[in-house]
Amino acid sequence: MARAEAIIDLGALEYNIKRLLSNTKADALAVVKADAYGHGLVPVAERALKAGAKWLGTALLEEAVALRDAGITAPTIAWLTPVSDDFESALKKKIDLAIPSLDHLDAVIKAGKSLGISPRVHLEVDTGMSRGGALKEWSALISRAGELSKSGGLEVVGIWSHFARADEPNHSFNEEQLHNFRARVSEAREVGISPKILHLSNSAAALTNESSHFDLVRLGIAMYGLSPDVKSMGGSESLNLKPVMKLRARLHIVKDVPAGSQVGYGGTATTKTDTKLAVVAMGYADGVPRNANSSAGVLVGNKKAPIIGRVSMDQFVVEIGNDSIAHAGDWAYLIGSEGGDGYTADAWAEACGTINYEIVTRIGPRVPRVFTN
Ligand SMILES: *Cc1c(COP(=O)(O)O)cnc(C)c1O
Repeated sequence: MARAEAIIDLGALEYNIKRLLSNTKADALAVVKADAYGHGLVPVAERALKAGAKWLGTALLEEAVALRDAGITAPTIAWLTPVSDDFESALKKKIDLAIPSLDHLDAVIKAGKSLGISPRVHLEVDTGMSRGGALKEWSALISRAGELSKSGGLEVVGIWSHFARADEPNHSFNEEQLHNFRARVSEAREVGISPKILHLSNSAAALTNESSHFDLVRLGIAMYGLSPDVKSMGGSESLNLKPVMKLRARLHIVKDVPAGSQVGYGGTATTKTDTKLAVVAMGYADGVPRNANSSAGVLVGNKKAPIIGRVSMDQFVVEIGNDSIAHAGDWAYLIGSEGGDGYTADAWAEACGTINYEIVTRIGPRVPRVFTN
């Protein structure tokens, strides 16, 4: 009945997590930010825990709150929480907070004092990415956090950082960041901080660099069955990962057009021969990239049909060819298939100059998620 749907194979999610866990002695944190990379926050979080992940991680506080509101009690960290956030609710709901600066520490301590709760935090150090975490402020941050821990006003659960180039496993910058991380952790221990867990690795490092695993690896893209970087690390299959998301939409119309017909807004493509086109009922408002070129398309009736012309808001046109037996109402698979070789999130990324992460996370709320296995 549905016009379009994203089919989420939770069995594949479980498979990927177990495969990644078999590669490490560390525990796993399932990264479920951005609606679990577009796969559906709560069902993914629940299955990830069942598969053996011990922790959950979100960017936004709202995302962590949604996990708690769904009854999920596993340890959870939110790491992109502007100082204006409602830290009192976070503490009431036993959500761990990342602390990247003195300003954050002050705001969280204030919330803790007003509730009489000792906040659980993970101090975030910038080891070279120049994005999150404390850099020059690190000594001041650990010295203040050390004092607060001694007086019982703070519980430093973890120290963590993030790799900039883990998807280039042989790049020397990874060693540099790892070295900086160890040095910054030693400084924290010297001022009396004794974190229970250290965490640094994302999917790419979890797959390639065991010396960076410490106590916990933060699994994102690989858990969803996709490669952190197809060029440097190979695709899903070579990494022994199973893509979790399939994406399909109905054919709205099938029709014959003559050679020389211009297709879509701006007439950016023209049919070369008399041919058959199909209109797919999904567009950029659903997350299909507007600038995807004809190296992406759909699988319909087990045959690849490339995009022709520009993607519109709610629809796009594919060339199915004269011999196609496709009908209006048939499913067209944008990602994956019912069996054969379909287009992948990697192919869509390639077709519009982005990465698979963006392809899956941008699938919009008009597309229902259907959970299987
Ligand atoms: C998104 C994110 C991850 C997961 O990264 P992947 O490359 O998807 O594995 C890990 N840690 C942090 C802090 C993140 O923001």
